[in-house]
Amino acid sequence: MPLLLLDLDNTLVDRDAAFRLAAADFLAEHGLPASDLTWLMATDAGGYTARDELAAAMTGRYGDAVPATAVRTLLDTGAADRVRLAHSSRQALVNAQTDGWTCVIVTNGRTVQQETKIRNTGLDRLVQGWVISEAVGHKKPAPEIFQAAATAVGAPLRGAWVIGDSPHADIAGADALGLRSVWVTDGRPWTHGSCHPTHTAHDVASAINHAIGTRP
Ligand SMILES: [Mg+2]
Repeated sequence: MPLLLLDLDNTLVDRDAAFRLAAADFLAEHGLPASDLTWLMATDAGGYTARDELAAAMTGRYGDAVPATAVRTLLDTGAADRVRLAHSSRQALVNAQTDGWTCVIVTNGRTVQQETKIRNTGLDRLVQGWVISEAVGHKKPAPEIFQAAATAVGAPLRGAWVIGDSPHADIAGADALGLRSVWVTDGRPWTHGSCHPTHTAHDVASAINHAIGTRP
């Protein structure tokens, strides 16, 4: 069975939209200016800023106005509690399975947080497995995490597609293994000279439907 290796954050789910909702609630709850949302989103950098670093920046900015536990709760569960799976993405995953593809989520992040997102959205019932960098000890673009995904479902990596929004983690990761890839652009131009995705798509549903359409 051919493999689809799918990124989670900002590919299958709109992690930034979920974090934005959580951050807005956080600011309102603590009587902080709503305009701080811009600073918070920029400092979070799409989740790429280390949690400890972001917590320290928030403590530096808000001091005693906000308890450290509230900051931790926002960073640990804020996005995970609010992520949603779009109907089109759900349908594309169903199509993939119907067509005989094996779907595995390959995500960088912490196990508890990523598994919460996977279960809260019902993705656990739509994919055949998942690998999380904290659990496997390797982060994308390292080849080991993609190999772990194939091993998790007992399928060969050869012939797999990688689908994701990150040029570095997803597309360069696929390229290094000689795998085909779809870059989910969300309207962004490709500006990375060292490698290229096999295909680009505006959203994940289009990306999945493209990949599964290539099977003879
Ligand atoms: Mg991503």
